[in-house]
Formats: sequence, structure tokens, C-alpha cells
Amino acid sequence: MQAEGYPAGKPLSTGGKPDHRAVVIPAARKPGICLTPERSRQMDQRLHELCATGTPGLTIMETMNAEMRLTWRHSAYFRRLKRLDLPWIPTPRIGHRQRPAQYLAEDQRAACYEDMAYEARNGIADRLICRECFEILRDGELTSRNRHLRRHGWNQNTYDLHHPGAPRCTSQRNAASSGHDVEEVMAERADKYVTPEVRATAVNDPKYEEHNGITGYVICRVPRCGFKSNGHIRVHLRSQHDKEVVEYRQEHKWPEIISMNAREQAKERSRRQILALRTAAQPQKAKPGPHSKSVKDKEYFKVGKLIEEKLAAGMELTTARRLVAKHMDITYSSAVRYHKRFRKSIRSTPPVPVTQLRA
Ligand SMILES: [Zn+2]
Ligand SMILES: [Zn+2]
Repeated sequence: MQAEGYPAGKPLSTGGKPDHRAVVIPAARKPGICLTPERSRQMDQRLHELCATGTPGLTIMETMNAEMRLTWRHSAYFRRLKRLDLPWIPTPRIGHRQRPAQYLAEDQRAACYEDMAYEARNGIADRLICRECFEILRDGELTSRNRHLRRHGWNQNTYDLHHPGAPRCTSQRNAASSGHDVEEVMAERADKYVTPEVRATAVNDPKYEEHNGITGYVICRVPRCGFKSNGHIRVHLRSQHDKEVVEYRQEHKWPEIISMNAREQAKERSRRQILALRTAAQPQKAKPGPHSKSVKDKEYFKVGKLIEEKLAAGMELTTARRLVAKHMDITYSSAVRYHKRFRKSIRSTPPVPVTQLRA
């Protein structure tokens, strides 16, 4: 049967062309693509949970698609994780043997958390410990492409903010790059920070350095730090704790902020500056210069005069110079030099030519 007035085999509403609008479902209503606000919240919560356990991105995609009956591709999850500020953890390569993670023993974690030189103090040269999860890491595992830090959703800056002063690479690496002995590097690191026990005592005693005769440094009282600051602590506070000196002193019972030695040096410097200014302000007295000595007291004059006397007595020039050099305990060449100078200085009596003297 054929409808009246319409050609056979053509849809009713298109006027001869196929109408795509009739079959397209709007994207917002496409099943498996869009989420209701409630399901969106559920999704975000699950993504946070999965990332916290270090689940790789592709596994997250499979899990979420199965759980929420979705058909999302990995790019959709990648964008959503980025929007939530969560890390996309790459799936470990097939055949790439994964080393089982090693963690610091429970009873040592408190000591490690409190001490930024824990590795150096305990002779750990080729490993470092994440201060967040206490995993024992090889060199480069913490910061290289943020491999470990991504697990905490951090980068290097956020790690430093949460754990200021915590080591980022092993003592072995530091020794290799500086060309020093590894034992020396570890001793240096351990010497940069006081032990947590000392820091705890110093926190309760604002004059700890004075009471214990410490003149070379002041101790940073910020929790978990204990850095030994040689000069003014301002630089350390700003770079490591993003703090100003006044704020720091208020929080820690007004401790000293400059080491005794640095204070003494500053005093000495200012004393010298004042002295220099005073000297500059005073009128300059004429100093006795090299010409103040009488010409006749000068050695060249004495030597020259003696030689001339011997010449007058009929002695030969070279013999006279030799004899006088021996007598005055000087070298022959010095005697010659002095004699020439003597003759030059006596303007009134022109020098006698050597040929005449020899004759
Ligand atoms: Zn960690
Ligand atoms: Zn500090």
C-alpha cells in the first residue's frame, strides 16, 4: 500500500532526504556517557579512594566502567583525575619486575620522622626514607619524575613543604657529585642538625646555647628541624619554613637568632668601621718618609764616600770597590751601584772618568 500524495519508499517528514535529527540521542542523555550529579559525586569519591591505594590509571578505568556501567575511555578518566588534582599512575610494563616495597620498622618511624639527618646518623648511605609513608627508597626513586611522590599526589615542592629539610637524595649520590668521601658526607649531614633530644631541650630553654657554651651556631626550634645555623637564622627560616624571624621568636619563647661568634664578628666589624671613619675625619700628620733620613746617614753615601777616599789615596777603582764591599759586608755589585749613585748625587763635583781614575 502507498500513502496518498507521497512517493513510495521515502520517509514522511524529510521531503525525500533521510532526517538524522530523528535518530540522534542528545549527548547529555546518552547512556554510559554522562552522569547525574549524584553519580558524579560517587565517581569522584571512588577515584580518590583508588588513587590513595596507588591504583594505575588503566585499572581505574576498568574498575569504574564496571562499577558504574560506563563505557568511558582512558582519556576521560585522565582528564577527570587531572581536574581533581589526582595523579595518573602508569601501568607497570609487562615483564618489568617490580621490587617489593620495603618499609622502615614501626618502632623506628618516630625517630626517623623527628630527625632530618636520620639516614646519616644511622649509617644509611645508599637509601633514603620517605617521611610520609616510610618506604625505604633507592637513589632517585623519590624525585625522579616524581615516581614515588605521585603516590602521595605530590611533587618535590609539596614534599618539601610537608617535610622541610628531609633528604631528597642519598649520601652516596651527594658524595659522588661532590667528590668527597661518603663517610665524610654523612658526618657533615649529621652535624648539620642537632638530635631530636637536644632540640626538645632547646625548645624548653630559650637560652640553651648560652647555658651550654655553644658559640658557633643557634638551633632552629621549629618542630622536626633542629638545624644548626652558623650566622643569622633568617635565611634558614625563610627558605625552609617560610617564616619570618619575629613570628619564629614569638612561637619559641624568644630564642637567640644569631650565634655568639657571628655577633662578636659583627661587633668587631662595626668597631673597625667606626675607627676607620674617625681616622678619616682627623687631619693627616706628615709621616716621616724615606727622604727624612739625612743623606749622609744613607748607606750608599757612606759606601761611595769610602770608595772615593780610597781612590784619592791612589787605589785602583775595582780594588777600592772590592775592599769597601768587604768592609761594609755588602756584595761587590751593590758597592758598584752605591758608588755610582753617590757620584750622581754629588752635583757640585762632577764624576771623575774611570779611565782617568785608573791612570
Ligand atoms: Zn612515601
Ligand atoms: Zn629549621
